[in-house]
Amino acid sequence: MATKIDLIKLHHPEAPKILIEPPGPRAKELLEKQKKFEGNPVLYPRMIPLVPDEGLGATIKDVDGNVYIDFFSGISVLNFGHSNPYILEKAITQLKKIAHTLDFPTEAREALAERLVKIAPGGLKNKSKVIFGGPSGSDAVEGAIKLAKWITKRRPIIAFEGSYHGQTAMSLNLSSARKFKDPYVPLAPEVYFLPYAYCYRCPFKLEYPKCNVRCADYVEHVLEDPYSGIPTPAAIIVEPIQGEGGVIVPPDEFLQRLRRISEKYNVPLIIDEIQSGMGRTGKWFACEHYNVTPDIMPIAKSIGGIGLPLAGVVYREDFDVWEPGAHIGTFRGNVVAMAAGVAAIDFAEEYGLLDHVKKLGEEALKFLVDLCKESKYIGEVRGKGLMIGVEFVKDKESKEPFSDFVSKLVLETFKRGVIVWKAGHYGNVARFLPPLIITEELLMKGLEIFKDTVLKLEKEYASVS
Ligand code: PMP
Repeated sequence: MATKIDLIKLHHPEAPKILIEPPGPRAKELLEKQKKFEGNPVLYPRMIPLVPDEGLGATIKDVDGNVYIDFFSGISVLNFGHSNPYILEKAITQLKKIAHTLDFPTEAREALAERLVKIAPGGLKNKSKVIFGGPSGSDAVEGAIKLAKWITKRRPIIAFEGSYHGQTAMSLNLSSARKFKDPYVPLAPEVYFLPYAYCYRCPFKLEYPKCNVRCADYVEHVLEDPYSGIPTPAAIIVEPIQGEGGVIVPPDEFLQRLRRISEKYNVPLIIDEIQSGMGRTGKWFACEHYNVTPDIMPIAKSIGGIGLPLAGVVYREDFDVWEPGAHIGTFRGNVVAMAAGVAAIDFAEEYGLLDHVKKLGEEALKFLVDLCKESKYIGEVRGKGLMIGVEFVKDKESKEPFSDFVSKLVLETFKRGVIVWKAGHYGNVARFLPPLIITEELLMKGLEIFKDTVLKLEKEYASVS
């Protein structure tokens, strides 16, 4: 079925189209209503006044009829597009049959487990087990950590600066941002943060490759030195590309060395593919770029196919020593999301989506690298596939982060019909995570608008400074 698809038909034909400067009248009403009834943690509408009405492929129509190109995919949840008809049909069929089955087997559940084991990276392929617990990525991270603790009987965890693993107590503890943690500490104790290979802002003030990947050496040092002060950990947890941290792509050797170190010291390696997985980087999982196999791999976001909440943990077969009920939740996977997940994997395979992502990703990266040369404030462009970050600095020498510029850029780009988002330690990275089914034409249209907005804003800043 999917081979016959014309990707162009999946999107709103007129995107982008701004009829009225957002927020339009209906959007204003709903934003007001949200303020009245929803609590203060609501965050995203404070940055852009988007009030979505309809999603189609890589486009979103708002309640006043404006149509945007979506470069965010609800944080990589809609890799296969909004309302992709091929997936939608399967989800609706399942919904009409049965929606909630705990962990009793169903056709959809077993089909998804089988597909996930088949597309699992490296040594996990056809040799892993899958569990489904709660519906969020945070829950999958909790599951991954619990499994590592169960296996090793140890408690401490090594995580990395710049990480994001979620918002529940344990996963929150593994996330680095102070703003999320300060109100609640102490959370789960014994998490140690080590430097990640963020080469643009090297924590050791060294340069790659002369540095010989000092951050990997440092991990080895704390495990080897009996007086490092860090107890023997139950796991090392790492994102193969840090998403919230600012789309930080480490050198290949970083993950490869972590793999070797974790084997040498007998510490399970958890690779969090929640944001970078499900085709986002042009491979099913980002760790495949480095030929590295995780021992345990939490996944979520796009595995629900069409935006339905679903999460899971894929792990080595020989780690399957858990007891029944060891990691559970009421939903234990949502069977409608599972049917959609199966349809999404079928769709991607039949369409050759991974090659499409690779091709488009290379074009987008080249476009943005060229823009970096022209721009006064772009310090670095980095990414793999359709996971791309553009880091803004006040000055290319000092690399002082330029967060205000990015906030303004996100808003101005939105007003011109393109949704990009912020990330980074300092909120100074513009992040691109478009649905993978985006067409080349839509991608380039959106990038041109982004470029135009960057250069226009740069002129405005230059004229006031
Ligand atoms: N891990 C990573 C790498 C993530 O990007 C996220 C969410 N952005 C999470 C875990 C947490 O997922 P959720 O928000 O679904 O709990």
